[in-house]
Amino acid sequence: MTARLIGTEVFCDGPDDQTDCPSSAAVRAGFGSVTARQVRADGRRDGWARRRRAGRLADLCPSCAAAS
Ligand SMILES: [Zn+2]
Repeated sequence: MTARLIGTEVFCDGPDDQTDCPSSAAVRAGFGSVTARQVRADGRRDGWARRRRAGRLADLCPSCAAAS
């Protein structure tokens, strides 16, 4: 029996609270990136940002981060 690691995806929270990301962007877990923290580190290399928004943290893909 094999336990397969699915990994973590970090999804873009969109340009604002009411708007979904137009490109439905998500950072996929790369090889060796398992936790959400590691996946976010992958995303930061590609220009992803984390913003505090209404008391929560929002993950933004490069295009949404540029638009906001
Ligand atoms: Zn986005």
